[in-house]
Amino acid sequence: MLIKSRLFTPGPTPLLPSAQLAMASADIHHRTADFRALYSKVIADTQTFIGTQHDVIILAASGTGAMEAAVSNLTSPGDKVLVITAGKFGERWKSLAAAFGCNVELASAEYGETVSISAIQAKLNKDVRAVFVQATETSTGVRHDVKAIGQAIRAAAPDAMFIVDGITGLGTTHLDADAWGIDVLIGGSQKAVMIPPGLAYCSVSEPAWQRMEETKSPRYYFDLRKERKSAAKGESAYTPAIALIAALAAAYEYLRSMGGGDLAKGREALVNNAEMCAEMTREAALALGLKLFAPTAPSAAVTSIIAPEGVDSTDIVKTFRRQFGAVISNGQGEMKGEIFRMAHLGYFDFLDTIATIAALEQILAKLSKPRHFEFGTGVKAAQVVYARYAAQASSK
Ligand SMILES: *Cc1c(COP(=O)(O)O)cnc(C)c1O
Repeated sequence: MLIKSRLFTPGPTPLLPSAQLAMASADIHHRTADFRALYSKVIADTQTFIGTQHDVIILAASGTGAMEAAVSNLTSPGDKVLVITAGKFGERWKSLAAAFGCNVELASAEYGETVSISAIQAKLNKDVRAVFVQATETSTGVRHDVKAIGQAIRAAAPDAMFIVDGITGLGTTHLDADAWGIDVLIGGSQKAVMIPPGLAYCSVSEPAWQRMEETKSPRYYFDLRKERKSAAKGESAYTPAIALIAALAAAYEYLRSMGGGDLAKGREALVNNAEMCAEMTREAALALGLKLFAPTAPSAAVTSIIAPEGVDSTDIVKTFRRQFGAVISNGQGEMKGEIFRMAHLGYFDFLDTIATIAALEQILAKLSKPRHFEFGTGVKAAQVVYARYAAQASSK
């Protein structure tokens, strides 16, 4: 049988064809008027995509580069910081802050759950200089209530910097960076913007620029102040990832067309699309008798499903790849073998989603005997979800 290779992972995600073409032909020098025009446009579009009036910085790095920049630019050794952690990426905040000498407090949740607002409030006080969180924790598939966290911070620690890893939250969650008091909101290129890994981007608030003038952690390549100065002239401080910048411009054009010429509307449509694909997948999993790993606050970026009794999730992941050419994700760390994760962020549509559900039915029938569902049970549940979204969209 013919097998097509496809990514269903929460980063890297499938590439937008027009972005791939743009990359291949991006043979320009970065200290030229052509590049300055491209870069300035991409920065302005990134502001719209993030949904912020604040300055936007683009770095040649994977997402973690911007996470490190947030820590090194906004903290000093000895600063008390609060890390809100519900999984592997929350743990990355903890390690990063510790690496820069911060005095790290944790507000944490079990894998598969979100950190409650009361647990966060209990750790907030005027000594907290910065708070770090994930909008969506990709390792478990949960979503945090970023707006409520922002309110809690402003009430109890008004001077604290609020830093949000939105690397899989942007493009899958309706976020209002400025209104919710987010000082730094971070994204990564290999997620919802449908291009390869290699760029990290973030919005930076005015209070954050002020904080940078007094912080004492070492920084050089990731000195955001240097990038801000260069960006004002349409340039980057060092050699930018030119091809990825060209790809990002093409991705924004695609999103703009999704929004009928309006990029902000295109972004909303992308979020709604992810919500739909995620809900199709959750309903299908439940109809097939599977349990969700993050049932109370599931993200639209990725759906985590617990492997059925007696089945190792590694076998599900391997069978997806071998039989259908589809790359899905295993659990990370302790969750490996227990859960599998299917992504919805970026360039995924109805056909991708319905087909993965059909493939999952075939795989479960093979790995978990006796089969306890009729073929089509998951697909049917997903069809109902799609029909509801389609009816809503056509009534607008
Ligand atoms: C992918 C991802 C990152 C960044 O990882 P990199 O490998 O550095 O790009 C950070 N946080 C979350 C929530 C992610 O999903």
